[in-house]
Amino acid sequence: MNQHIPRKRFGQNFLQDSRIIESIVHAVNPGPDDTVIEIGPGLGAITRPLLDRLRQLHVVEIDRDIIGRLKKEFPADKLVIHEGDALAFDFASVAGKLKIVGNLPYNISTPLLFHLASYGDHVVDMHFMLQKEVVDRMVAEPSCADYGRLSVMLQYRFEMESLIDVPPDAFWPPPKVESAVVRMIPAAGRCGVATDEAILEKLVLQAFAQRRKTLRNNLKGLLTDDEFTGLGIDPTLRAENIGVEQYVAMANMLAAR
Ligand code: SAM
Repeated sequence: MNQHIPRKRFGQNFLQDSRIIESIVHAVNPGPDDTVIEIGPGLGAITRPLLDRLRQLHVVEIDRDIIGRLKKEFPADKLVIHEGDALAFDFASVAGKLKIVGNLPYNISTPLLFHLASYGDHVVDMHFMLQKEVVDRMVAEPSCADYGRLSVMLQYRFEMESLIDVPPDAFWPPPKVESAVVRMIPAAGRCGVATDEAILEKLVLQAFAQRRKTLRNNLKGLLTDDEFTGLGIDPTLRAENIGVEQYVAMANMLAAR
């Protein structure tokens, strides 16, 4: 087969470090009958060792040239290929509780994480290679510079752990940034339950609209000082100082009106 020319627009940085690949598969730890979906299999760096451990593997891939290669290399009953955009893929269409894995295209990683966040009920766990800077934001605690909307909305739904730091030379071609592997395990209810998740999402977006401003300023017109006090929240704090539970409490106060 001809050599594949990496496509920038599909965020193609292929893993070539066998130790890193091995540690990802070890972290995923698939059993033979698990239902596993790999997002963006590319040239198969993670696909092959996963298939060594599985009866069947599902993949979602957008690049037609790559799909052609995968079809040539793997029998259709071993590798089930879903052609298309992972951002539009209905992960609930694959039966069973899912383990999802991927060295994700960095250009779509944040919208993809938000898309996947809605499938918590269908998922056992997820392991993703992402820009380290994104992983740092996902796992950040309140009052850290990295803590923001992504931290709150994902920590509301998942327990997350940064597992492996990965340098650029683990990939071909090497990306300009450091990467990291993160584990996400659904943990709905851990920080309370929002009665209306759409309200929680809007509230968090507005609270972080201007990071340097106080909650009182960013949430003007939504919550009064008395309501902040009733919830035990100091309105002169900034959005980055507030824990996930407190966001849920504010959202539930708004939802109850
Ligand atoms: N898993 C391979 C590896 O580790 O070497 C490839 C990883 S590469 C960073 C990202 C992969 O995702 C590529 O195969 C790319 O074609 C695919 N991809 C990019 N955008 C996609 C999308 N929107 N939906 C599905 N796959 C996508």
